[in-house]
Amino acid sequence: MPNENKKNGKKKIPVFTYYLIILVVVFLISMVLVPMMNRPVIKEISYSEFIEMVETDKISKVEITNNVITIEPKDFDKEKPVYYETGMLVIYDEEVVPLLKAHGVDFGSPIQEEGSMLTSIISFVLTLGVSWLLFFLIMRVVSKKMNGGVMSFGKSTGKIYAEKSTGKTFEDVAGQEEAKTALVEIIDFLNNPKKYTEIGAKLPKGALLVGPPGTGKTLLAKAVAGEAKVPFFSLSGSEFVEMFVGVGASRVRDLFKQAVDNAPCIVFIDEIDAIGKSRDNVMGGNDEREQTLNQLLAEMDGFDSSKGVVILAATNRPEVLDKALLRPGRFDRRIIVDLPDLEGRKAILKVHARHVIMEGDIDLDAIALSTPGASGADLENIINEAALRAVRAKKTKVSQKELADAVEVVIAGEEKKSTVLSEKEKRVVAYHEIGHALVSALLTHTEPVQKITIIPRTSGALGYTMQVAKEEKHLMSKQEALDDITVLAGGRASEEIQFGEITTGASNDIMKATRLARAMVTTYGMSEEFGFMCLEQRTSMFLNDNTSGDYSDDTAAKIDGAVKKIIDQCYEKAKNLLTENKDKLDMLSDILYEKENITGKEFLDLLGIEPEKTETEAETKHEDENE
Ligand code: ADP
Ligand code: MG
Ligand code: ZN
Repeated sequence: MPNENKKNGKKKIPVFTYYLIILVVVFLISMVLVPMMNRPVIKEISYSEFIEMVETDKISKVEITNNVITIEPKDFDKEKPVYYETGMLVIYDEEVVPLLKAHGVDFGSPIQEEGSMLTSIISFVLTLGVSWLLFFLIMRVVSKKMNGGVMSFGKSTGKIYAEKSTGKTFEDVAGQEEAKTALVEIIDFLNNPKKYTEIGAKLPKGALLVGPPGTGKTLLAKAVAGEAKVPFFSLSGSEFVEMFVGVGASRVRDLFKQAVDNAPCIVFIDEIDAIGKSRDNVMGGNDEREQTLNQLLAEMDGFDSSKGVVILAATNRPEVLDKALLRPGRFDRRIIVDLPDLEGRKAILKVHARHVIMEGDIDLDAIALSTPGASGADLENIINEAALRAVRAKKTKVSQKELADAVEVVIAGEEKKSTVLSEKEKRVVAYHEIGHALVSALLTHTEPVQKITIIPRTSGALGYTMQVAKEEKHLMSKQEALDDITVLAGGRASEEIQFGEITTGASNDIMKATRLARAMVTTYGMSEEFGFMCLEQRTSMFLNDNTSGDYSDDTAAKIDGAVKKIIDQCYEKAKNLLTENKDKLDMLSDILYEKENITGKEFLDLLGIEPEKTETEAETKHEDENE
């Protein structure tokens, strides 16, 4: 099986060389060995014997060349070909032609010395066999060399990663309680298959873990194997797809064969969308992928689930999967592994904080509060970033400050000390940020401000206003959406009011506001023009917010009009609010200009508002890019 694992960077002989060796051997066999084996027997006879054979009607055909007569006898047997040969007489025998005619011997046309069918078959099989053997041996050597570190029991199959025990348990997976509950049954099944088969129950053969990247799908699959104490066979979807057609299919066969031999066990196919893409996709027709998918479908139908083999697969693009993969008897169970909520984030931070030395008074809950929308992988990254910062600061323990800094770095990028704003620019940014914050404070359906800063970040933001919601939000009302757009417009409106001119700093706000307004019109049915009507659909459930729609140019123009109307109204509203509160705008902007950072509490104190909101979740932020 061709194997081109490049995971470890050992120096190796190019695979090309091996192909060359094989080619040479096959060539030699077919050019030298086969003709030798295939050669018919030729018996020398004397001229008089030849004449006698003609006279006794033993000859069916002769070929006369310059000085040799080749004779095909009547009792010619294809399995044991025997030809005769005799030399021509130096004196030409004029009687030979009439004699041949008289006995009905065919002459004049050449005899094609035919070998036996049997020998040609044997030689064919031999050629094939020898080259396969060679190929196999070489590939074994190659794959041994390349996959030295990967443990694989049973047959050597290159890229299948087999682990006798994954070492992960549900303790390592924080949060994701729904997913765990769904997987508990599978674990029980692997441990006591009899309990289920006795009653006649069939357990699902496969479960599909779906969710955004970094939410712990791979981790969960390993934990299932760990909890059930069964081996774990994993292969990434992309590893099935090779340059050579048929390789993927053979890998699928190997994977299932190994799995059945080692049952009970878990087979895990990561990123299954790489092979499981819907087959009716005309654009990217791909024979190899289709073959691999077909093989997978066949194997899933073929194996006996009562043996205790459970197939788990993971993807973040379930919508592109082939329907055949999802029908009952295959991946009919879908386990959603979504982004963690507040409790989930707290738990994940705790799990990863176990391995890091921290000061006693660490408040991980505060970190969880300020990281809505972060995945498990992001949170792991935050903890690690904090540890790295502690090392950089020559500390022996991680403190709360490093953690808070790590959050800001992960969310907004590093503070960029090299970007020095001019006095004028700094004032513009201060007014811009206070514009956001003040509009937000003046509106009723907005989230409280948590932090305002005008320190530039490596992400390109010159400052930002961080807002944090009172509680976890699942729905957004039309008024909330409009207020959000108004807050986004506040930055630019503030600049316009104070300086009478506008800057590029609002580009990010404009993008977000337009996006939201457009979504209101096309997907949320919140516009007067279209009302309760779907114009666009999301193209991906978990990966991004891209949408696509099918409508006429005329409708497209109307959509643009509706979007513009919403944005214009909001911008007007923001401008009015700020003009009415110009004194507060000036006061706050001056303070931000001096201090560069204002916390949410300070902001409310300055405005004379009682801070009633402490529970926080789902934060939005307005970055202001300088582009
Ligand atoms: P996915 O396969 O969903 O893209 P992974 O399972 O590879 O994500 O997760 C990446 C890393 O993030 C894991 O190795 C783990 O350290 C961390 N992680 C993600 N989700 C969790 C979780 N719920 N609990 C603990 N760690 C998590
Ligand atoms: Mg993964
Ligand atoms: Zn802004």
